[in-house]
Amino acid sequence: MNGQMMQLPLLISSLIVHAERHHPEQQVVSRRVEGDIHRSTYKAVAARSRRVANVLGSLGVKFGDRVATLAWNGYRHMELYFGVSGSGAVLHTVNPRLHPDQIVYIADHAEDQVMFFDLTFLPLIQAVAGRTKTVKHWVAMTDRAHMPADPKVPGLLCYEDLLDAASDTYGWPEFDENTASSLCYTSGTTGNPKGVLYSHRSTVLHTMAAALPDCLGVGAAETILPVVPMFHVNSWGIVYLAPMTGAKLVLPGAGLDGKSLYELFEGEGVTISAGVPTVWQGLLAYVDANKLKFSTMRKSAIGGSACPPAMIRKFLDEYGVRVIHAWGMTEMSPIGTAAAFKAQHVSQSAEQKLGVMATQGRAVYGVDMKIVGEDGAELPWDGQASGDLLVRGPWIIDSYFKNEGGHPLVKDAAGHGWFPTGDVAKVTPEGYMVITDRSKDVIKSGGEWIGSIDLENIAMAHPAVAMAACIAAPHPKWDERPLLVVVKKPGAELTREQLLTFYEGKIAKWWTPDDVVFVDAIPLGATGKMQKNKLREQFRGHRLPTA
Ligand code: ADP
Repeated sequence: MNGQMMQLPLLISSLIVHAERHHPEQQVVSRRVEGDIHRSTYKAVAARSRRVANVLGSLGVKFGDRVATLAWNGYRHMELYFGVSGSGAVLHTVNPRLHPDQIVYIADHAEDQVMFFDLTFLPLIQAVAGRTKTVKHWVAMTDRAHMPADPKVPGLLCYEDLLDAASDTYGWPEFDENTASSLCYTSGTTGNPKGVLYSHRSTVLHTMAAALPDCLGVGAAETILPVVPMFHVNSWGIVYLAPMTGAKLVLPGAGLDGKSLYELFEGEGVTISAGVPTVWQGLLAYVDANKLKFSTMRKSAIGGSACPPAMIRKFLDEYGVRVIHAWGMTEMSPIGTAAAFKAQHVSQSAEQKLGVMATQGRAVYGVDMKIVGEDGAELPWDGQASGDLLVRGPWIIDSYFKNEGGHPLVKDAAGHGWFPTGDVAKVTPEGYMVITDRSKDVIKSGGEWIGSIDLENIAMAHPAVAMAACIAAPHPKWDERPLLVVVKKPGAELTREQLLTFYEGKIAKWWTPDDVVFVDAIPLGATGKMQKNKLREQFRGHRLPTA
């Protein structure tokens, strides 16, 4: 017997329809690449999204066609989020930090029909425009007054001209909620990038979960600023979540330096933000140097790579901002876990609470996880055993776009598929997951694993350290031993011996790095993460003093 409830497909258009009807005057504020601050509302974004849908029709985009964006976080990009997916086409967000060759590869692989881009990326567009196979139209996301005089892109169209000429009357189509909505390629540190194809259903469910109190915890009275880019994993769902909840949305555009972000936080009364640790480093350095405070911000979600406990402590003790440490990946839409307290933690000491906040957190409803040993057998949640982390759930990948890389899932005894994340983790008896490493970054010393993240977190707690990466260096006796690569804070004094002494008593002695090298910079990838593969390459010939 079926239930007798309405059958309404979960569609992305429903989010902006809801916001227009129930939060029409709520603000969407953007820092534009043109330099100024732009103010819009959900009502205006909804109307302009319908214009986008009509524009796509006039450009010949059909149901299921891929439409690419190369853009910062801003209202025009948001209109494309709803206009493209809402009309049944697939929004392919392209990461502008990729190499032009990679952009050509993924645009061809996705068979993009139209590419919308922010003016900042005109040089990149010039580099790829003559090379892509399927893109028929290039659209600069600006108005007539800002159109480049000599763009060197044949037939370049102007976004605002197109919208002006289009009607804002459009009926969002109803279709199967399993229809593809958007496409994001993994950064592909090895091999070609692979496409992760989200559906309307997976996106709406993920958005609901992301808004839950123990996740980002967003309601209509909040003001949220995603520093996480709309060009990578849909800004962790925040551009969907804000209209779903009616929160004010602040989009920082290209201004991702500490000063620009701080001004926007304060000027717009931002209460919640989200970003990767490297972004917060820049912001905190600016706030520190200028002896500033956050007057409205109370929560910051940090993920994408491990958030050093020293950063969580600093945010809380010096600025009264609670860090929500979260974990996920492109293949997971991205949110899997978030570190919120259980009742028993509320009355614990500050140190114990910090211990909880520093984990990658508990599984959000919808995501299940398990850790397995080399034989595939599930390992206990005792806070000790660590193994490969597998996940399953309705917003987790089943297979890559065009089935690249074969079928990734691992079947359990009941026949259920689990996605192997490539992360190595342990889980506490209370269900808090701790990532010890990415499997390809693990250091194997005498057959035993050393978790590089722990070693980095300790180094990051040293006041003279700006950034630290721990990699495996070859060792004749132990196979591999940890080598710490460190960037010092400007003007700070620190020796190898001082830093190694700092490890004493904080970790098992045999985990202590064998050597420290100081560098000017650690290479960061397209999503702001340390590129340990590049470091391993760079230090391949490094001779450890213990070797
Ligand atoms: P890629 O770097 O391949 O593009 P993602 O951006 O999807 O992939 O990153 C996913 C990976 O980032 C995870 O598998 C994990 O290794 C790492 N990661 C994400 N959040 C955290 C976190 N809070 N702590 C440690 N590692 C994290």
